[in-house]
Amino acid sequence: MSNSSSTTIPDARGHFGPYGGRFVPETLMHPLQELEEEYRRAQKDPAFKREFAYYLREFCGRPTPLYFAERLTRELGGAKIYLKREDLLHTGAHKINNCIGQILLARRMGKTRIIAETGAGQHGVATATVAAMFGLKCVVCMGAVDCERQELNVYRMKMLGAEVVSVKAGQQTLKEAINEAMRDWVTNVRTTHYILGTVYGAHPYPVMVRNFQRVIGDEARRQILEKEERLPDLLIACVGGGSNSMGLFYPFLKDKSVKMVGVEAGGEGIATGKHAARFQGGSLGVLQGTRSYLLQDEFGQVQLTHSVSAGLDYAAVGPEHAWLRDRKRVEYTYATDAQALTAFMKLARLEGIIPALESAHAIAEVMKRAPKLGKDKLIIINLSGRGDKDVSQVAEKVKLEMPK
Ligand SMILES: *Cc1c(COP(=O)(O)O)cnc(C)c1O
Repeated sequence: MSNSSSTTIPDARGHFGPYGGRFVPETLMHPLQELEEEYRRAQKDPAFKREFAYYLREFCGRPTPLYFAERLTRELGGAKIYLKREDLLHTGAHKINNCIGQILLARRMGKTRIIAETGAGQHGVATATVAAMFGLKCVVCMGAVDCERQELNVYRMKMLGAEVVSVKAGQQTLKEAINEAMRDWVTNVRTTHYILGTVYGAHPYPVMVRNFQRVIGDEARRQILEKEERLPDLLIACVGGGSNSMGLFYPFLKDKSVKMVGVEAGGEGIATGKHAARFQGGSLGVLQGTRSYLLQDEFGQVQLTHSVSAGLDYAAVGPEHAWLRDRKRVEYTYATDAQALTAFMKLARLEGIIPALESAHAIAEVMKRAPKLGKDKLIIINLSGRGDKDVSQVAEKVKLEMPK
């Protein structure tokens, strides 16, 4: 950032102002230090950079296009809209970027086994994929309820050779899956690396995952300068843990003219309490290794969350987002389930692209904003993933019928 005080963000212990840090049992302090040191070494090693770039290009299909959404732009009648096509990556979402980076680190550390958590299964599939690719043993923890809801992804992980552990504690969803993954890591830490799926958890995960994902923004910056010979006016991305949005936003943070909006899951509406919009009614707290904004009750008990999109359905948000929000560098808003479904159908029918329900939240926000902006303005939406995984769920909600 141009502001010199922010060059030390996060500080050496992973604090983004009052957020971030490392809140873990003592047995995990050493592996986190080991990871941090290896990551620092890798960052300075040209061979690591080359290897990372090689697999992103040859295996994942980078760079992804920055695609001009002509019909969506015309329909909304305002700003010119570009889509950053992370949906075209291998395994169908941005998550593979981070998984490639972390599996390369795991190999450098001589680990032979990978553990991961997953909610909807997208991160589990990306992790199982990179583990198969390098021949490492892989265990993915997934809530029992999520296993049932996302059967297809469970089978994908199994086909890729991963063991899927169905976690039956508590709500039987993502939070419990993370607890189980951390428990496994504590037990098997000598052989095992934990591939965490977003810009969350104990230091160094938030900063490391952001740096693996910044390839999205680095490419988008280059591409928009090539196509339009100027920077965009507005960046929009959905925010679950916050990795696809941080990846897009980060390389533009210094550019004061570029506005940024993060879109959380508004579920059935903020007033109903059935949502996952941490910045609408959340508060400062510690959960699963870090301090950030989270949805909790007056006793600090983590609240139940809801979203039509499993990838946004988590009670906490990455610490760097909380920091950027305090500094008013990024604005955070939400889209409801209904708005996301409308946006989902709109993109499918106007552009021939079926988006992930998560990404549809970002499109919903563009539908609100683009018409109010002049035709000379430029918007980039991060299309974080494709919607194949969501097809049956959406078909049910919008009542599409099989031909008779
Ligand atoms: C997991 C996921 C998200 C949410 O995670 P972030 O870390 O906030 O990016 C968004 N979109 C898709 C397609 C996902 O799979």
